[in-house]
Amino acid sequence: MTSLYFKYAAMNSGKSTQLLQAHYNYIERGMRPVALTAQLDDRYGAGKITARIGLTLPADTFDKVTDVYDLIASRNKDKAVDIVVIDEAQFLSAEQVRQCARIVDDLGIPVMCYGLKTDFMGQLFPGSEALLRFADNIEEIKTICWCGRKATMTARVLEGGSIARAGAQVEIGGNDKYTALCRKHFISGEVSAPSADGHKKAA
Ligand SMILES: [Zn+2]
Repeated sequence: MTSLYFKYAAMNSGKSTQLLQAHYNYIERGMRPVALTAQLDDRYGAGKITARIGLTLPADTFDKVTDVYDLIASRNKDKAVDIVVIDEAQFLSAEQVRQCARIVDDLGIPVMCYGLKTDFMGQLFPGSEALLRFADNIEEIKTICWCGRKATMTARVLEGGSIARAGAQVEIGGNDKYTALCRKHFISGEVSAPSADGHKKAA
């Protein structure tokens, strides 16, 4: 079935690892996947999807003005595209999510979007909001908080171990800057287990 998929999670959940695994599976079956990632995420260099376990995949990039539909349509004209996988899909605009829907509906190519649901303040990213509205298939990739509960929130951790409550929505960083927390600890701001003497450990 040709669908628009949204696989969302908190930070450091292994989203990119799953994406790379899915991409590899398509290659192995002799299919042609096209991988896309956000231009602004230059943690590992532009045009690359890198998973924390050490795998890397070259990828096309999208920025604010990329017409994702046109990009895939032209790739598809050169050689049939079997599936589109998009990392950092929270950075798509609502318009680009509609373009993804047209890739599915008009070109008949499935699109799998991987991204964060909410930002460090607990607000939906524009791309995630549009994907929650438009995707045919929505799946949560689970990860856990330090307390063992399901981590649904992504917190930005400041130097000293407290969590940021204000600031720009987009500030690129990896494990060092962000941590996945359950709702309770996102709200309380406890980023790690209290140590035996009752003081919080530095993050
Ligand atoms: Zn927790």
